[in-house]
Amino acid sequence: MIIIMHSHVTDEEIQGVVNQLKSLDLEANISRGIERTIIGAIGDERKVHKKSLQALPGVDSVIRVVKPYKIVAREWHEADTVIDIKGIPIGGKTIQIIGGPCSVETQSQMDLAAEGVANAGCTLMRGGAFKPRTSPYSFQGKGVEGLKMFRQAADPHNLPIVTELMDVRFLDDFLKHGVEVIQIGTRNMQNFDLLKEVGKIHTPVVLKRGICATLSEWLMSAEYIAAGGNHNIILCERGVRSFEKAYRNMLDITAIPVLKKETHLPVIVDPSHAGGDATLVPALSKAAIAAGADGLLIEMHPTPCDAWCDADQALTPDSLKGLIDELRGIAQVIGRDI
Ligand code: PEP
Ligand code: MN
Repeated sequence: MIIIMHSHVTDEEIQGVVNQLKSLDLEANISRGIERTIIGAIGDERKVHKKSLQALPGVDSVIRVVKPYKIVAREWHEADTVIDIKGIPIGGKTIQIIGGPCSVETQSQMDLAAEGVANAGCTLMRGGAFKPRTSPYSFQGKGVEGLKMFRQAADPHNLPIVTELMDVRFLDDFLKHGVEVIQIGTRNMQNFDLLKEVGKIHTPVVLKRGICATLSEWLMSAEYIAAGGNHNIILCERGVRSFEKAYRNMLDITAIPVLKKETHLPVIVDPSHAGGDATLVPALSKAAIAAGADGLLIEMHPTPCDAWCDADQALTPDSLKGLIDELRGIAQVIGRDI
């Protein structure tokens, strides 16, 4: 059961609900978001009389959500959630394209990438300063120095930045450098301690799907973030591991309409890590938009053959621009725009 509080709820009103739940031997999880506070009742809900909770000051509505994920469930929140990132809405009519290199390499690479991203029509820029690599001997990312380079490259173009956080010890650096969107990567989708930490702040989070995660597991991970009070969550489908070897991961297009049914959160797609090959990115991008994705996360490098990481899947600045122009046609057909 979740108790949705009025938008201008006071601490006393929240405490009133908590006390009422306690008197029934129930625990309360307080999820204090920017726009709304949601209290989750933990324990035997059968003892609760909806009407008596509903009558408490500050309570907007009381809803029994059947799904294991509550705050992120469409069940109680019919409307799509639109997340505002420095004036750029994700989850509304406009489809947002996030472009940029796999990793932050040098200042000149990032400067050229930012120019290419902006020229192509992307509204946000991606790039990893901390890289989760399969081999410990592969390039691990530039770290905090990379965050600085990213900031310096993106700011002249007013591009909010999306970058991966792997270790909670660097969260303060992310905040200090004003990272607008924190990416939680595939390998950390079920790193619950990390999810809890990003749940304590209000910075928007892109939560990528785990390599073998079911949709329910993925939504439960989103619920970890939401339960802490961060309701600004964007889900990113990036392909799952399959038996097929002809491409990197199998893009689960079906996940898009299913997620749209299950959750009110925005859903974006990463065609680059799914295909693993630049030649596959256009087809996967088109399919994702046609299936209802709210955005795309696409890897682009000023000179793909020189990329330090994921060179095969990076588009050139020109091919990214050409692709976005094509995608506009698909968006229009389904009543959206880019
Ligand atoms: C990335 O986006 O740079 C990345 C490492 O992706 P994923 O977590 O989907 O593998
Ligand atoms: Mn990559």
